[in-house]
Amino acid sequence: MSELFQHRARKRFGQNFLHDAGVIHKILRAIAAKEGQHLLEIGPGQGALTEGLVDSGAKLDVIELDLDLIPQLKWRFGLKPNFSLHQGDAMKFDFSSLVATPEDKLRVVGNLPYNISTPLIFHLLDHASLIQDMHFMLQKEVVERLAAEPGNGDWGRLSIMVQYFCRVDYLFTVGPGAFNPPPKVESAIVRLVPYAEPPHPAKDHRVLERIVREAFNQRRKTLRNTLRTLMSVEDIEAAGVDPTLRPEQLSVADFVSLANRYSETHPEAEQGPSA
Ligand code: SAM
Repeated sequence: MSELFQHRARKRFGQNFLHDAGVIHKILRAIAAKEGQHLLEIGPGQGALTEGLVDSGAKLDVIELDLDLIPQLKWRFGLKPNFSLHQGDAMKFDFSSLVATPEDKLRVVGNLPYNISTPLIFHLLDHASLIQDMHFMLQKEVVERLAAEPGNGDWGRLSIMVQYFCRVDYLFTVGPGAFNPPPKVESAIVRLVPYAEPPHPAKDHRVLERIVREAFNQRRKTLRNTLRTLMSVEDIEAAGVDPTLRPEQLSVADFVSLANRYSETHPEAEQGPSA
């Protein structure tokens, strides 16, 4: 097969193909796809994960950007009745077009191109109501930030905005040798499970985003300083948060309190404060 479709990995598409059968098996076991489920694989590449996913009997949609990989994917999986191939950019893809009914939730899977992993996760979170869960291979450092807890050096904007919407499980680490070509960094598998309702709902999540971004612009400073242009010390205290804390000491619930206080005191800022 590989003789039929010679492909040189392309850096600009973030191509590091999985070839370690043990790691592939471990990822498939963590996903545990079953017939009756609906999977979406982002960046199937040369099909390392696709094969196990399609064999599970679940309905499988895949989105691949690299035109050169399309013939190979069609050749290997095109005749499987549960397989649908979409050539295009996952960043621009309308995920709702895949879902027929509100009960038809997507299980999203991907060994993601590292250069777009964070914006892609945010793009997917815009469609969180369509998603049952997500399993991603990412740079280990990014998974550590996703799964971080308050007070930890990795805790920041990414941790807070993703944990606002999802439960995050760090599953396991994968070394560079599992890929061809090997990346320069370690990778890890993460599971993200969107909440039916966020446990600490913000009145406007764009306000939350702005407060979090502003707070972490200077993570070593106290809130009274970092939030000076948005909130007074009195407003921070009225939200039940100590203004002498540093942003990395605050939980998701604390940031939501601050955002909700901002929304209450700025009823005109319906679209969230301008950036
Ligand atoms: N899943 C394969 C594996 O594990 O071996 C390939 C993983 S490789 C890290 C990332 C894949 O995503 C490549 O096939 C690449 O062409 C594809 N890709 C890159 N950018 C993409 C995008 N914006 N939308 C969809 N696929 C993309």
